[in-house]
Amino acid sequence: NTFAEIDLGDTLNQNIKRCKYVKPTPVQRYAIPISLAGRDLMACAQTGSGKTAAFCFPIISGIMRETYVQRPRVARTAYPLALILSPTRELSCQIHDEAKKFSYQTGVKVVVAYGGAPINQQLRELERGVDILVATPGRLVDLLERARVSLQMIRYLALDEADRMLDMGFEPQIRKIVEQMDMPPPGMRQTLLFSATFPKEIQRLASDFLSSYVFLAV
Ligand code: AMP
Repeated sequence: NTFAEIDLGDTLNQNIKRCKYVKPTPVQRYAIPISLAGRDLMACAQTGSGKTAAFCFPIISGIMRETYVQRPRVARTAYPLALILSPTRELSCQIHDEAKKFSYQTGVKVVVAYGGAPINQQLRELERGVDILVATPGRLVDLLERARVSLQMIRYLALDEADRMLDMGFEPQIRKIVEQMDMPPPGMRQTLLFSATFPKEIQRLASDFLSSYVFLAV
C-alpha cells in the first residue's frame, strides 16, 4: 500500500516523494499495476481521485524503457510516443504541469497543445522534441492536418474525462485521431480510458479503441 511496492523505479519514486505523495489513492493502487502489466484499461475516476498520476506513472515508466525507439527524422514533424487527450485547455495544462513534475530527470519530454491560443509557440515546442503530448482534440486535429505531428509512433494513448470530451462534441475528432494510430501492428499501443460515467457512447468507444481491457471501478 505504498508507491515503493509498485515497481516504478528509483527516479519515478523520487519524483513521487518530491510531490509529497505518500500513499497511492485507490485508483492509483489498482490502475498502475494493471497498466504496468501492459493491459488496456477502462477506469471509473472522478476529478480529485488522483487519476492524472494513475495514467502518467505507467506511461512515463514505459517510455523510460523505450528510449531506444528510433523515430523518423522528418523536418518539422513531431513523433510523440504517448498521447494524453483531455477535453479542455485548463485540464490539459494541469496534466502537463503534473506530468512534467513526474518526469523530472527521466529524460522524458512532455509538451502541451490546446486550442484557443496562438499555435506558433506550440509548434516551436513540438519542434524541440516530444515524448508525451498532452492535447485537446480540436488542436491536435489541426496539428495533424498541418503534418506537424504524426501519431505513427504512439505506444500509449490515455483518454482523460472521456465522457466530458463526448459531451463537448469531440467524438468525430477523437475517432479521426485514433484512426491515425492504427498503423502500428495491433498490440503495439496500450490504451487507458478514464471517465466518470459510463453511458453507451463511452462503452462503444471502449470496445472500438481498447483490446481485451480491464474494467476498474473504485
Ligand atoms: P487528480 O484527480 O489527478 O486531478 O488529482 C487531484 C489532486 O490530488 C492533485 O492535486 C494531485 O496532485 C493530488 N494527488 C494525486 N495523487 C496523490 C497521492 N497519492 N497523494 C497525495 N496527493 C495526491
